[in-house]
Amino acid sequence: MGWFLHWLAVHTGTVNESGPFYGFWSGFGSDLGELALIGAIVTGYRHVNCHVKGCPRIGHHPVEGTPYRVCRRHHPAMSDKFPTVEDIHAAHRAAKKGPAMPDYVTAPGGPE
Ligand SMILES: [Zn+2]
Repeated sequence: MGWFLHWLAVHTGTVNESGPFYGFWSGFGSDLGELALIGAIVTGYRHVNCHVKGCPRIGHHPVEGTPYRVCRRHHPAMSDKFPTVEDIHAAHRAAKKGPAMPDYVTAPGGPE
């Protein structure tokens, strides 16, 4: 029973038996950990976001012939509006027929 009370005291912070490094890891050291975590998130975000300068959207769409990935709004062959299922089926049929994309994909301004 004595060992249990001691364990409880240590783990609830009643007795500080963790040594000099406990203060480090719970203070400044944990800030370092958080900085590393935030750094990792920022790095990951910068890796996936749109390559257009200042654009915060996720770059889902590779631009053919370039190393860039951009968002829907900045892709040269996409409208910034979501396609309907008919649009997608028409694009699929057009792609099966040949390389030309249907007008609504390449037309300036897209479907209004
Ligand atoms: Zn973008």
